Amino acid sequence: MDKIKRLSNTVKDLVMGGGAIAAGIATTQTLKGGPPSTELTYVLPNARSAVVFALPLDQDVIESFLKKEDMAGVNINNHRVNTMASGIALELAEYLNMKGYDAVPIIANAVYRKDVPGGLYSELPPISHRYLAVRSGIGHLGLSGNVIMEPYGAAIILSSVVTAAELMPTDPLPHEDSYCDECRLCMAACASGLMSTDEKTTVTMGGIDFSYARRRLYSRCDYVCGGFAGLHSSKEWSTWSPARFPIPENDDDFLPALLEAAPAYKNRPKQDFGCNIYHPLVPGNRLDFTCGHCQFLCHPDKKVRKRRYEMITRSGVVVQDADGRLKAVSPMEAVEHLATMAPERRALYEKE
Ligand code: SF4
Ligand code: SF4
Repeated sequence: MDKIKRLSNTVKDLVMGGGAIAAGIATTQTLKGGPPSTELTYVLPNARSAVVFALPLDQDVIESFLKKEDMAGVNINNHRVNTMASGIALELAEYLNMKGYDAVPIIANAVYRKDVPGGLYSELPPISHRYLAVRSGIGHLGLSGNVIMEPYGAAIILSSVVTAAELMPTDPLPHEDSYCDECRLCMAACASGLMSTDEKTTVTMGGIDFSYARRRLYSRCDYVCGGFAGLHSSKEWSTWSPARFPIPENDDDFLPALLEAAPAYKNRPKQDFGCNIYHPLVPGNRLDFTCGHCQFLCHPDKKVRKRRYEMITRSGVVVQDADGRLKAVSPMEAVEHLATMAPERRALYEKE
């Protein structure tokens, strides 16, 4: 028992020393009965445990991003923190391997199962960091489905290591301690409608239930957060995407919409922040991070949440200049800006 306890303390200490703000341990027992993305044996047949941890995103760059004043800060920070989280996972996995325990690092994001119907495009992760995180007490599941924790809100990045080592599981946080008051601002700030407003999903792991708003088709978030389109149905505000292609009402219409918007996506100039983000699923593989509203808005302090919602919805609409630069203008100016374009350039942003 002492050996298990010592190793459990060591793995948590290792990730905290690397820059994590919270670390937890889930086991095949504590995850029992969970959805397929909690099956540790999918990535390691002799798995017994997983170490999951969180790193914070930089709060100082969030509000200028939401006000559509600065896109670079969030993009650079997001990329770097994802890389750091994945690096810590690799470091821990190699430490465990050196100590004689099989271990597999699961990178923070953008990795999907290939052996399921739809392959990569199913977007089913090998392991769900967020389910492991809430089961092992790193944070709560907000109504958004994002993992939330004080004082960072949902502005965190998660990563995990699955291992054959036997480790001591950590307990979930008490449900009543969650700051999520179901304010629904995450839903209001989502132009894609990913989160159902009237249905919840409940997952049970190791006999404990966790609920959040049912996620409708993931292609919704791909379409908007991925930057294929960004104009809210009110036409009063947008994400950082300058594309104004219609955002469908029905799930069935998203795949055709994505396919139709893909050539324009590929041909629009990308931003150069000196740290390009590559993603295997987007046309051309270059991704500019344009939304994340549900994540960045969700702060423990409701006044901050409301303020951030106002920033998103009162900062206008993004357009792209001929030199590729993005800027936010009023909804009317955006219409005028598009009207001055030659048809072939305008087709990069909207349907005639
Ligand atoms: S924005 Fe509000 S409803 Fe959504 S997860 Fe955060 S606290 Fe919960
Ligand atoms: S990242 Fe943007 S599009 Fe995706 S669910 Fe969150 S708010 Fe909606």
